[in-house]
Amino acid sequence: MNLKIVKPPAEILSKATEVVTDVHTQVLPYISTMRELMKNSQGIALAANQAGVPYRFFIDRKSIYINPTIEVIDSETIQGREGCLSMPGGMWMCERYKEVELTYETTKGKTKVERVRIPEEIKTTLDQSIVAKVLYFQHEVDHLNGTLVSDHGVKTTAPFEDPNGNDDGVEVVDARTLPTLSLAQLQQVFSQQMNDPENKAKQLKPLG
Ligand SMILES: [Zn+2]
Repeated sequence: MNLKIVKPPAEILSKATEVVTDVHTQVLPYISTMRELMKNSQGIALAANQAGVPYRFFIDRKSIYINPTIEVIDSETIQGREGCLSMPGGMWMCERYKEVELTYETTKGKTKVERVRIPEEIKTTLDQSIVAKVLYFQHEVDHLNGTLVSDHGVKTTAPFEDPNGNDDGVEVVDARTLPTLSLAQLQQVFSQQMNDPENKAKQLKPLG
């Protein structure tokens, strides 16, 4: 299947996706190509409409999240820089909730609920992957609702080398690379990064 990552002003990125009613025709045929696109772009997750597929699901490296809805559990927020596979070359300071609950369907039709919260201390790889999930669950559901980081984030500028060699570059936050810090320290790091154009953080990856 021939899919590519679509970019603004493609309309599919700015309107809500259609609820999935048939996994076999609306989800499964696209998964392997979407995984490839995500991997080639070094993204952590990918929403269907980013690949030009108009249905309500997203993927990460392990799972497929069908008809996801998100509920805010803790309305306290943190700020961080986010890159987006649909908009290489930019990054945005985004405010995200500290704790959310994602309800979604599996490909077998089961409903699952996954609650994730930014840990108070980020010490292990598991802590880091939880931070990433808190962020990309919100980032991807936004995509499926037709919202881009450019709609609600503040654009920041800093040079960055695109992993695919494009000059326009991608600069992003990969929460998995965050150092071991308390939440307060984490916020400080984010603001330092924003004010430091020399901080290229090459290992950081787009959320999706
Ligand atoms: Zn994105």
